[in-house]
Amino acid sequence: MNTDEVRHDPLTGVVSIHPDQRDKPFPVVRRTLPDPGGRCVFCALAAASVNDTNDIRNGDDVSHLQRNSPYSFVIANRWSPFGPSGGAELVITRRHVTDFESLRVDESEDFLAALLEVRARHRDKFRRTLAFVNVGLEVNGTQPHLHGQVVSTNLDVAAPMAMTVTAASLDTDVSLAQQHGLVINDSSETVTYVAWAPTTTGEIRITSQNPETLATALHVTLTDLVQAFGALAYNIVLLEGPRLVAQVLPRFTAVGVLPPYFGMAVIMIPPADVAAALRHQ
Ligand SMILES: [Zn+2]
Repeated sequence: MNTDEVRHDPLTGVVSIHPDQRDKPFPVVRRTLPDPGGRCVFCALAAASVNDTNDIRNGDDVSHLQRNSPYSFVIANRWSPFGPSGGAELVITRRHVTDFESLRVDESEDFLAALLEVRARHRDKFRRTLAFVNVGLEVNGTQPHLHGQVVSTNLDVAAPMAMTVTAASLDTDVSLAQQHGLVINDSSETVTYVAWAPTTTGEIRITSQNPETLATALHVTLTDLVQAFGALAYNIVLLEGPRLVAQVLPRFTAVGVLPPYFGMAVIMIPPADVAAALRHQ
């Protein structure tokens, strides 16, 4: 008898398939960090001198400083995925940390504020903007130094997932999580929950009214996730919507899990199990 369950995500439109495999052990793979080859590119940039036109000179290399703070700095990314017609900026922490959970609370607030500020600037200029963080080679994190990215384009491409959520779809999503006991934390400021119809195994969503509380909730969530499952690789994706919404997309295994290329995801660990593990932290 086929007991696989199919769920439809109100937020992204992705269909997830939940095979009946509650009693099967699932191997969790730890993140691998890229080898900086003895020299961290971002630490070199953080230490390089800035001239009065805000150019950072690092040997022959010149990067333009777009935003500066005691904890982070923003530069244009010369490896823009969309080339000269698109926009791409990097938000880089001044301190060398490999992951979001290693930041102090004030650093994480600053980092998120910078990402949101860059995104707002791009939103005025581009039709499509995506703000995200990749930690670990398994999720395309190509530097071992924490950084966020904002990439934008005016191309009218058909996105596989809706990056803009509506108030109604968000309410539906949160209430599905409530009905199925997947809410990890619910305060007047933020709701943290495991997605009932996730886009990847163990997807956690956080919705919040302001950047400070979102930063704190992200910090707590990632700390608990790593406590529960080990230091796995993850993406953080910021969705556009009536409130701030972050997707935390852990990569539990390097093989055997398909990303939702066809608007369809195979979910290997039941969301309820992930919620239970996080609640015990
Ligand atoms: Zn570094």
